[in-house]
Amino acid sequence: MKIDLHTHSSVSDGTDSPTRLVLKAHDEGLDVIALTDHDTFDGLLEAVEAGKRIGLSVLGGIEMSCRADGITVHLLGYGCDPWNRPLLEELARIRLGRTGRLQATAERLTAAGLPLTVDDIVAAAGAAPSIGRPHVADAMVAKGYVASRKQAFDEWLGDDKPAYVQRYACPIGRGIDLVHEAKGVAILAHPWGRGADRVLTPQYLEQLIAEHGLDGVEVEHEDHDPHTRELLFQMGARLGLIRTGSSDYHGTGKKGHHLACNTTRETAYREILRRIKLRGGMLPA
Ligand code: AMP
Ligand code: ZN
Ligand code: FE
Ligand code: FE
Repeated sequence: MKIDLHTHSSVSDGTDSPTRLVLKAHDEGLDVIALTDHDTFDGLLEAVEAGKRIGLSVLGGIEMSCRADGITVHLLGYGCDPWNRPLLEELARIRLGRTGRLQATAERLTAAGLPLTVDDIVAAAGAAPSIGRPHVADAMVAKGYVASRKQAFDEWLGDDKPAYVQRYACPIGRGIDLVHEAKGVAILAHPWGRGADRVLTPQYLEQLIAEHGLDGVEVEHEDHDPHTRELLFQMGARLGLIRTGSSDYHGTGKKGHHLACNTTRETAYREILRRIKLRGGMLPA
């Protein structure tokens, strides 16, 4: 069984519609994908329906923007009830933070000699309810300021770059609690990628397990080098965490993250399903 548990559609900052994503996953020989758009469940119904038509299992997911000790961390929620009120309210708050920073981002770019408006960014985002920096990057590409999303991040939008503007993110412990309240399974996305290992130490993870019942960690991910994967796999085993693997596919929006470039072992997937069932969450169709 080929299982990829972290993918994005154009409902957030991926470039394929949910249907197109599912068709591509099928072509790739995948049996299961989880759709994990940033801070929204809006693509889920379409992906599930497309999966039913073609015979691919779609697990409902979310990638929540969270914060731990001042850094941004991403939390994957699987099998959550997509109508759970407290979770939906928190996601709405996070998305408000996303749109709320667009004006400041546009002003910073404009002041730096790259005139851009909020309308330009919204146009680049199309119908996406969850607007992110990749859409700002797309607007910059459309204006001819940069050649790619990557260049936009490297020169302007990255966390330490001139047009970076902070936004609201959910405290990580609360994020895990909300996923559980919605009957889902909480897995930390790429915990040791992009310097997050400085905060998400083994001790910190033990605390998240003890105080919030964190279910697992994403191990096989392009942001982790082979040595990091090995260490994280061993540590996860020691702490009794579910260990997953995934592509974090964004269509043409993120280079090197091909569908199924990393996959989740069937045993880990079965354990996720077992916990969703136990909690009364949403199992894949
Ligand atoms: P935001 O959600 O607005 O904070 O933007 C962060 C998102 O941008 C991440 O989740 C990635 O999908 C994407 N991203 C981060 N770095 C890059 C990069 N160098 N090139 C393209 N996309 C990126
Ligand atoms: Zn993304
Ligand atoms: Fe992420
Ligand atoms: Fe992601």
